[in-house]
Amino acid sequence: MVKEKCPNCGKGDVFYKDLPFLSLPKMKEDCEVCNYHFDREPGYFLGAMYISYGLAVLEGIITFLICYFLFPKMETLYVVLTVCAVMFILSMRNYKWSRVFYMYIFPN
Ligand SMILES: [Zn+2]
Repeated sequence: MVKEKCPNCGKGDVFYKDLPFLSLPKMKEDCEVCNYHFDREPGYFLGAMYISYGLAVLEGIITFLICYFLFPKMETLYVVLTVCAVMFILSMRNYKWSRVFYMYIFPN
């Protein structure tokens, strides 16, 4: 699942790998190995938004706790900026993980 493979066969990639750095991830229509159609129905990945949101909140909390315990004298503004930066940097990763995770939970 973390390797972003097809939920049906576990071999085909879900996303294109050869995209330029910092471009939006592009999802394949079907699995190239077993021909599994990833987008089951219109709006199928709406639920993945909640997973993505949960991941972002979790990463924000972890970043805050790291700042709080490792740098106790850090100013609030810098803590907020650090948390926002980490959430922004990880947002593309969350987008991919949430969709793959969602396909694993609801394969049909
Ligand atoms: Zn497959």
